[in-house]
Amino acid sequence: MLIADKLNKSFKQGKAKVHAVRDVSLAVRRGERVYVHGPSGAGKSTLLHMLGGLDRPSSGAVLFEGKDIYRYSGSRRSALRNVSFGFVFQFYHLLPELSVFENVMLPAVIKGGISRRAVKARAGELLKAVGLSSRGAHRPAELSGGEAQRAAIARALINSPDVLFCDEPAGNLDSEMSGVVYAMIREFSEKNGMSVVVISHQEVEKGFYHSEYRMKDGALGAISVDPSREIIGACDGMARK
Ligand code: ADP
Ligand code: MG
Repeated sequence: MLIADKLNKSFKQGKAKVHAVRDVSLAVRRGERVYVHGPSGAGKSTLLHMLGGLDRPSSGAVLFEGKDIYRYSGSRRSALRNVSFGFVFQFYHLLPELSVFENVMLPAVIKGGISRRAVKARAGELLKAVGLSSRGAHRPAELSGGEAQRAAIARALINSPDVLFCDEPAGNLDSEMSGVVYAMIREFSEKNGMSVVVISHQEVEKGFYHSEYRMKDGALGAISVDPSREIIGACDGMARK
């Protein structure tokens, strides 16, 4: 469903050139949860941004459902990001002037096509699912780190994305809250067949992911790849056991 083909990304830093991602190829099937780890500066965030349609590769292609997303116009790519992708970042990126409830509703309001009432009902359900029913009227600044991240997850899930991209999702959380957050993501992924790409320098519980990769100096190496993925990838759309 998501394929990266020989991605490269270089940045100019003054006169120096940083080759942040080198010839990375990767396939993520429907419902697959992928974990990419590696030291700080390895190129993980740069890779995630390219996969998620946030940053154009210097070379290579990202195919989502068979189409090269960097051939789309900017507005079409934005729409794809809003509707088909969800994002969870280390620092939550909640809008401070909106309430928690409004933050969660926002991607659905932008997407349009459903009534305000339905959006409110869906946001309410998601806040309940992440244990924040009583926090909807609060501003993000009034939340703890764990609460803010759960609100960000609810927001990322409101349009039922096909792929959830997470960059250091537990970077600011203690180990208990980190476990809660991964369990929520996993449950949603299992229920809805949502694929997940988590990148982190921290450890992630083995049961969370199907496939594990390591990134170092911009290059990606497979550590263990779910053996069933080729077969299941070939019959995408069928329910996954
Ligand atoms: P990680 O997420 O694994 O810590 P990053 O992808 O953030 O690594 O960074 C990889 C390398 O690319 C680093 O050397 C970083 O300084 C460089 N880099 C990342 N983004 C930019 C940018 N926008 N401009 C210049 N250099 C960047
Ligand atoms: Mg990073």
